[in-house]
Amino acid sequence: MSRKTMAYFFPIAWRFQKSYFIVGATKAVLEAIHPFISILMLPLIIDELLGERRLDQLFTYVAIIVIVGSLISLTASILGCQMEKCDEKFQNYFTERMSRRIMELDFQLTEDKDALDQIELARTGMQWYSGGVHGIFVQVLNMFSAFLRVAGVITLIAIHAPVLFILVIFTLCISMYLSHKDNKIELKSHKELAKVNRVFSYSGYELMDIRYAKDIRLYHAQDMMVEQWKKFTDESFAHWKAQGDGHLPNACISAAATAVRDFLMYLYLGILVIKGSITIGIFSQMISSCRELTNSVVSIGRCLQEIAKRCNYAYEYVKFMHYPAAIEKGSRPVAGGKHVIEFRDVSFSYPKTEQRVLQHVNLKLNAGEHLSVVGLNGAGKTTFVKLLCRLYDPTEGEILLDGVNIKEYDYEQYMNLFSPVFQDFKLFAFSIQENVLMGEKETVATDGTLYKLFEQVGFAEKLDSLEHGMDTMLFKSFDKEGIEASGGEQQKLAIARALYKNAPVVILDEPTAALDPVAEYEIYRQFHTLVGGKTAIYISHRLSSCQFCDHIAVFSDGHVAEYGTHDTLVDKENGIYAEMFAAQAQYYQ
Ligand code: ADP
Repeated sequence: MSRKTMAYFFPIAWRFQKSYFIVGATKAVLEAIHPFISILMLPLIIDELLGERRLDQLFTYVAIIVIVGSLISLTASILGCQMEKCDEKFQNYFTERMSRRIMELDFQLTEDKDALDQIELARTGMQWYSGGVHGIFVQVLNMFSAFLRVAGVITLIAIHAPVLFILVIFTLCISMYLSHKDNKIELKSHKELAKVNRVFSYSGYELMDIRYAKDIRLYHAQDMMVEQWKKFTDESFAHWKAQGDGHLPNACISAAATAVRDFLMYLYLGILVIKGSITIGIFSQMISSCRELTNSVVSIGRCLQEIAKRCNYAYEYVKFMHYPAAIEKGSRPVAGGKHVIEFRDVSFSYPKTEQRVLQHVNLKLNAGEHLSVVGLNGAGKTTFVKLLCRLYDPTEGEILLDGVNIKEYDYEQYMNLFSPVFQDFKLFAFSIQENVLMGEKETVATDGTLYKLFEQVGFAEKLDSLEHGMDTMLFKSFDKEGIEASGGEQQKLAIARALYKNAPVVILDEPTAALDPVAEYEIYRQFHTLVGGKTAIYISHRLSSCQFCDHIAVFSDGHVAEYGTHDTLVDKENGIYAEMFAAQAQYYQ
């Protein structure tokens, strides 16, 4: 796992910021050298004090310890600060990559609990628990530094008191075992916390979003929200407590092992001094070397465990970035020009559900044709459109574009064929212009194209009343002068955005539901101008709009129950369309 995680992160991070790694390696070498200044100087000072006591010699030794030691510490600290700065950059960079991946994730995965859990694991694993690239690399450097120190002190101990190795190995085995147990406890806790955290952040943060403000106030949902929040806080606390309790016995055993090691070490070295095998200066050097060796070996063990643990957390990010696609994607290029769309015996159930939402749908849509799709709520109209837009793949049957299964086409190019306005469309907290251009160059806005479009969808009057015109921000999330557009205004903007995309197939799902009758009439009147010669699918409950279309498909219980022109269907005896039309006509006469 560690190998795979590092093989994923480090090359990306290296390409992004090479200097970080060079600075890190230099810092590790300096940190390895630092303890040896006092380890080597201390016996000289002690033996000098116990022997000739030459002041100039003593002064030189102390000066070396102080000056060289401080210089190394200072340089290492400066390099450490440089690395910290890069940490922020890495976090932002990898978060950006993940956000992009989330936005490009196959749509159906956005409703999939496993995929959502994986996003949460990736986010917390990468940002909090692993410390990201910096969190992992610092451990690698610590390990490297500890290896260098081990090599140094082994040489010193081998010269004066080789038996000390046994003591070090004794302590090492115990601490490795304990830290392995600690890691297992933390990993288990992280998995359990991922589920709690998702619900926790929903009730704690997302519900404070202004979009919920109305409903929360009018339905007095505050108490319910706070209760929910408390429930998940308690659950979260219980997990953290269990983790802390699990660590306690291990900490006690570790302290006892250190005490035994120290006792044996003093005993052995004391005997060597009494026997005259080593000087007091070397005695003190061996004590510091042995401490350094134990600490460094323990540090290597900890770093290995820490790297494994952090990589385990960060691997959730790697797993998410390679999350399997939910739909098949081909590579066939989509030809330009006009297209014929055909549903051939298409049936569909939403993932992880049994119910057949569409059943044996057969329908053909010629280039430039305008199709009206009607039916009661839940009849499958929106699902039909979602399948066409490849947000889901059919469970059975196939959808053809110019006679070829749509799965065979390049996904991006295929998606570019559609300009949909879904019922639950979303506008962004960006400017009006940005919401329509969606990343296109702003220059097009200055040639009047955009304003003409706003006129066509009936938004020009509102636009003229705004001080900052098209640069006015939507919503108040980032700009206190941002406007809270009404449902109807938002719908007009969504229609403008779809038409601006200028794709060959326009899909309008309940496009006028939030519009007042005058605006609705305007949209109908302009419909042919707006859509022009493009293919259009028009889902609407207002059957008067069907008269503008070439054909009408009446959906009922997931299948096409009736199909034809307005004139043929309106007079059909016991026909669903005829019945719905008559019922609505009463209100409009
Ligand atoms: P319509 O647009 O005609 O009102 P839909 O296509 O939205 O109907 O819905 C058809 C059926 O599919 C309904 O029973 C609805 O509950 C179900 N459905 C819609 N979306 C989902 C989903 N994401 N997961 C599971 N079932 C869904």
